[in-house]
Amino acid sequence: MSSTPFDLFVIGAGSGGVRAARMAAQRGARVAVAESSALGGTCVNVGCIPKKLYSHAAHFADAFEQSRGFGWTPGEARFDWALLKANRAREIARLNGVYETLLRDAGVTILRGRAQLVSPRAVRVDGLEHAAQRILVATGGHSVAPDYPGGELAVTSDAMFDLPVFPRHLVVVGGGYIACEFTSIFRGLGARVTQIVRGERILRGFDEDVRAFLARQMAQHGVELRTGVRPASVARGCDGLKLTLSDGSTLAADTVLQATGRRPNTSGLGLQALGVRLDEQGAIVVDSGFETSVPGVYAIGDVIDRIQLTPVALAEAMVLVDRLLGNGTRRIDYDLVPTAVFTHPNVATVGLTESQARERFGAVKVFRTDFKPLKHTLSGSPERVFMKLLVDAATDRVVGVHMVGGEAGEVVQGFAVALKAGATKAQFDATIGIHPTAAEEFVTLREPVA
Ligand SMILES: Cc1cc2nc3c(=O)[nH]c(=O)nc-3n(C[C@H](O)[C@H](O)[C@H](O)COP(=O)(O)OP(=O)(O)OC[C@H]3O[C@@H](n4cnc5c(N)ncnc54)[C@H](O)[C@@H]3O)c2cc1C
Repeated sequence: MSSTPFDLFVIGAGSGGVRAARMAAQRGARVAVAESSALGGTCVNVGCIPKKLYSHAAHFADAFEQSRGFGWTPGEARFDWALLKANRAREIARLNGVYETLLRDAGVTILRGRAQLVSPRAVRVDGLEHAAQRILVATGGHSVAPDYPGGELAVTSDAMFDLPVFPRHLVVVGGGYIACEFTSIFRGLGARVTQIVRGERILRGFDEDVRAFLARQMAQHGVELRTGVRPASVARGCDGLKLTLSDGSTLAADTVLQATGRRPNTSGLGLQALGVRLDEQGAIVVDSGFETSVPGVYAIGDVIDRIQLTPVALAEAMVLVDRLLGNGTRRIDYDLVPTAVFTHPNVATVGLTESQARERFGAVKVFRTDFKPLKHTLSGSPERVFMKLLVDAATDRVVGVHMVGGEAGEVVQGFAVALKAGATKAQFDATIGIHPTAAEEFVTLREPVA
């Protein structure tokens, strides 16, 4: 056992763990963080960052094509998968170094290896026990594994960034945001992509209009969407993989991506032995101060499965450290968390869907538009933009903002501030637009459609 106990021992150097460790150390605490893989966690290594880089790569195919309408004659465009992978790996390695420097400069002790709780006051890493006043579990989550025969031949999102060979035909199983994003990315990069969705529509949980609009736009980009089916089995054939679906049909593919959700990383940590309570999904149950059922043991981020997004993990880390080492005034509000889906085109949303708004407020005014953006009047692209505002009829407050279109995330981030501030439709109307932009439509929607 190491001699002086750490004030805080963090397990997992991902989005939440790094932020908590740094902030705690900056407040003078003696902090250690244990990491079994690369610093930065899911977001930096196999999530948000590499995914967005690949999404940028995929958008170039459209840009080359669309440039013709603006007078360009692009040369022969060739895509080099190996080069993209190498450039991504270099940038991620740089970010791993940045995280290491941030932690070390803050005075955090970094321990490499798998950590396990041995008591509420001790953690074991690589056979060595470390005493700690408090322990924070920030171990994130992992992709759900396929549960059909031959499922081991499918890959999860972690593997997609480094596929040895670029797939000619990719089958994506799942309809959530990660499945849709990989579908768009690989389609944009030139693969034939078939997306298999168990339900009738992609993006469960999003506004129905958004779901339908995006599916049409993705189809225009050449995505083959198969709804109401599941994989029954996968087998290796002489020329790649053969996927049999629940309706008996078959598909040939060289890569099958299973993207049907993520589960919290709670096994092998010694949590059950200590009596740390988990919910039915295996997520750690915490109170409003992120303390588990065992006093002195805390948890944040994907492992508590509230909202699986990096900015949420960061916010939880800051609330926790403020509570443990500050004046405890910081709060987290899970309402109005904006989110984007980096499909082609992008989706972004903040607030309620139409059905949620109707359920909560009863009378709701719906403002909706879809139009060809200025750029595509010359580009030749059939891509359109969709926008929707939901307004509580009783108070005039805007309770939902939804967009499908280029840079939707950049647009909706600003509107998230307005919604957080309680903006009304009258205040949207009183706001002068920025012309010519797509975003100005959000402040010029005059007549409700429902
Ligand atoms: C493909 C993909 C795309 C995504 N895109 C976005 C996006 O665009 N925007 C967004 O906001 N979010 C996105 N996310 C979600 C985001 O990555 C997570 O919400 C975020 O990383 C959660 O942070 P965390 O700290 O809870 O866990 P993580 O970042 O997952 O970090 C957990 C860390 O703990 C380590 N660990 C686990 N067990 C142990 C152990 N026993 N000992 C030591 N270390 C351990 C892991 O190796 C990992 O480094 C995406 C996720 C995926 C998979």
